[in-house]
Amino acid sequence: MEKTLIILKPDCVQRGLCGIVLQRFEQRGFSICAMKMEKLSNAILGEHYSHLKAKPFFPSLVRFMSSSPVVLAVIEGKEAVEIVRRMCGATNAANAENGTIRGDLALSTQYNVIHASDSKESAEKEIKRFFRQEEIHSYKRALEGLTYSEDELS
Ligand code: UDP
Ligand code: MG
Repeated sequence: MEKTLIILKPDCVQRGLCGIVLQRFEQRGFSICAMKMEKLSNAILGEHYSHLKAKPFFPSLVRFMSSSPVVLAVIEGKEAVEIVRRMCGATNAANAENGTIRGDLALSTQYNVIHASDSKESAEKEIKRFFRQEEIHSYKRALEGLTYSEDELS
């Protein structure tokens, strides 16, 4: 099943919003199949944001992302990459639609609560960047009481 990487950024951790952000993914039907808290180094952030190295905001982005621990998680489910991205909303939280994570919880471009992989290729690379294979788990969500076929839910 499709997997994507999310990072609950320092603003999310410091504002105590991790629980409600993770709850949204669980409620939507996604599984959390790996999760940990870590303080990211400049080296790994340089790699993770290498496509933004030339941008004027890059030094401040790295400073922000290393300012406190973050929560890293692998989210699994149907069309996880695209749907999770959509659930996050636009990069500039002031432009993010109401009902999205950024649109409901933030107003800033930099302090926008969450990172999510932007394509299947990035998801694969990013999951490998932050998690060892043995840290990623597989289990079935309890779907007690639902009468849908399993295909419908996968
Ligand atoms: N960012 C910023 N200023 C900008 C654009 C982006 O500080 O003008 C930060 C912001 O935290 C964003 C991250 O850099 O989430 C990565 O930028 P990207 O364009 O990849 O946005 P995302 O994929 O996170 O929506
Ligand atoms: Mg991005």
